[in-house]
Amino acid sequence: MPRPLPEIVRIDWPAGHDAPPTATDAALDRAAAVLRGGGLVAVPTETVYGLAADALDEAAVEGIFRAKGRPATNPLIVHVADVAMARSLASNWPEAADRITASLWPGPVTVVVPKAAAIPDAVTAGGPTVALRCPAHPLARRLIARSGIPLAAPSANRSEQVSPTTAHHVLESLGSKVSLILDGGPCDRGIESTVIDCTVTPPRILRPGPLARADLEAAVGGPVAWPSGGHAGGEPARSPGSRARHYCPKTPLELPADPAARVAGLLAAGNRVGWLVLSADERARSLAGSRDLVVVPMPADPAAYARQLYATLHALDQRQLDRLVADPPPTDEAWRAVTDRLSRAAEAGS
Ligand code: AMP
Ligand code: MG
Repeated sequence: MPRPLPEIVRIDWPAGHDAPPTATDAALDRAAAVLRGGGLVAVPTETVYGLAADALDEAAVEGIFRAKGRPATNPLIVHVADVAMARSLASNWPEAADRITASLWPGPVTVVVPKAAAIPDAVTAGGPTVALRCPAHPLARRLIARSGIPLAAPSANRSEQVSPTTAHHVLESLGSKVSLILDGGPCDRGIESTVIDCTVTPPRILRPGPLARADLEAAVGGPVAWPSGGHAGGEPARSPGSRARHYCPKTPLELPADPAARVAGLLAAGNRVGWLVLSADERARSLAGSRDLVVVPMPADPAAYARQLYATLHALDQRQLDRLVADPPPTDEAWRAVTDRLSRAAEAGS
């Protein structure tokens, strides 16, 4: 018997209200019951949708890896309601973690710290450290606080696919592998959190994300290092699971140095092409009338670009195109996270 499709429950918290509507709290109570029973729930956060399970329940955590088809070597981020919960999951609380969490939580930054014994090995891929984050999404935080359960939650998609920024994306990727999806609308940031290793001096960014290095340096009150390695996205040495190929759309994506020439060549060879355009120059305009070309103008601001990136890739994947081409983003630091995700999405492998 095929398993039934998941239930999708809308949750919201209209601005100006002290508490969410009763129906939202009822949905959060149901989600908490599923989590307490060792089940999986897809939860909106301000970065992307997470596939959540009780981080202290090894069997539940293994369910996440099975549902995603995620290699056991790729550790999970544990989501907490506040700094006190985070500290209870760490065997030692480094000064850098203290400063970052005091000024940037709740928010899209994950700290890597020495793990407490209570955390199952499955969560940390057997490693001695754990990645912790307090999400800014008020409903995600309310779910964690009410259930009292720290939530292990990677992005709610099949491994290596594009992360979900809507409940619909979760449904498309995971289908009946998840039983309950909380629909909180589109994610505000649209890409995964900045991950920073607080067990080294100076603290080191393992994955660029919505919070820039300058934000982290201001919080730490000192320097913060970029990932070691020369890859555009950096190959996080202490993130065993971070491989170059990740976040891949089904349609192969390229980041050519001369996108207009590449698109013209692909069209001439009979391909149907989707083009994420940053600057519509003359050559881009001259191709824009082609029947076989879908042109998507992308925002010139990196945060706005990040917010739209995954939704754009999901939408283009529905168009039966042969190839996606993206204009390379500017090289300045503000674009680092977008460049990281685009270059991983463009990594050939299929
Ligand atoms: P995802 O949940 O798919 O966004 O991926 C979580 C990412 O967080 C991993 O791929 C690692 O890059 C990072 N991460 C999680 N736990 C650790 C850890 N203990 N040490 C270093 N990096 C980690
Ligand atoms: Mg992911």
